[in-house]
Amino acid sequence: MNATVTLNNGVVVPSLGFGVFQIPNEQTEAAVESALATGYRLIDTAAAYINEREVGTAIRRSGIDRSDIFIETKVWISDYGYDQTLHACDKGTRKLGLDQLDLLILHQPLPSQFDLTIDAYRALETLLADGRVRAIGVSNFMPEHLEQLLAETKVVPAVNQIELHPYFSQPELQALNAAHGIVTQAWSPLGGITFYRSGQGGSTLQDATIGEIAQEHRKTPAQVMLRWHLQEGRSAIPKSTKPERIAENFDVFDFELSEAELARIDGLNKGVRRGPEPAGITVEATGGRQIPEA
Ligand code: NDP
Repeated sequence: MNATVTLNNGVVVPSLGFGVFQIPNEQTEAAVESALATGYRLIDTAAAYINEREVGTAIRRSGIDRSDIFIETKVWISDYGYDQTLHACDKGTRKLGLDQLDLLILHQPLPSQFDLTIDAYRALETLLADGRVRAIGVSNFMPEHLEQLLAETKVVPAVNQIELHPYFSQPELQALNAAHGIVTQAWSPLGGITFYRSGQGGSTLQDATIGEIAQEHRKTPAQVMLRWHLQEGRSAIPKSTKPERIAENFDVFDFELSEAELARIDGLNKGVRRGPEPAGITVEATGGRQIPEA
């Protein structure tokens, strides 16, 4: 039985979802089908992942009632601006084959052109008012981006999806999200970014403390990390292309970490970001990627 989080507009979301970043097109349908068959009911995709079409096909093929699946996608930065973002929503919903999105978020802040980010968010507010989306939010917003957004727009984001795993848990940002009633959603919840990209700092999957706690519970390190997110009230969206791992990552509802174990995992935070630095995001720095029409 999945846990849920309630967004600041009353919409209820399964806490544990399935992410599809870096899943090649030809594998996306099978991966999402496998996730849905396992019991996941939250799917996180993005225009920039270029696999929304396959996600939509898998959802239709599953035979599961549309209202039982929570679908989240993201507007890419090259589509920021009021009219552009309205159009980006059209592109996304058409590719997904949906009438309404459950959650639409801005993929990144665009700090050097924050006026465009604000215009994009105002488009999300319009889409929310028009019932095209059930909730709106942001991703990779650091405190300064969040504060500026809150000062200049009306609807408080429902979600801030950020890099969050035991080696980079951003406690201050989590607290700021919570203070504003914004749900923190963890990307790379298993610390994928600590092992699928080269770089210093080690892999969360190999961490001795997490390994010890896993052994004590006869669970895997991945399961312990997911349990840590859920018990601390976050949403988490692990990705895998392998059916056995998809199942493993969902099998986290039959054990509980103690307060001391949660604190030990909190203590692993190195405070070093492994993903892109949000302050430096520009359309050019991300390769000038454009999102194709539907
Ligand atoms: P995850 O923490 O989900 O890790 C994924 C990696 O872990 C993959 O290499 C996967 O390999 C492997 N893996 C999955 N399950 C297990 C397991 N049980 N044991 C061992 N290895 C495992 O990282 P992601 O970065 O993929 O993040 C998850 C989701 O977050 C993305 O799919 C996307 O939806 C979102 N995201 C959002 C970002 C943003 O900017 N907003 C940025 C990055 C991600 P394999 O597939 O081979 O199993």
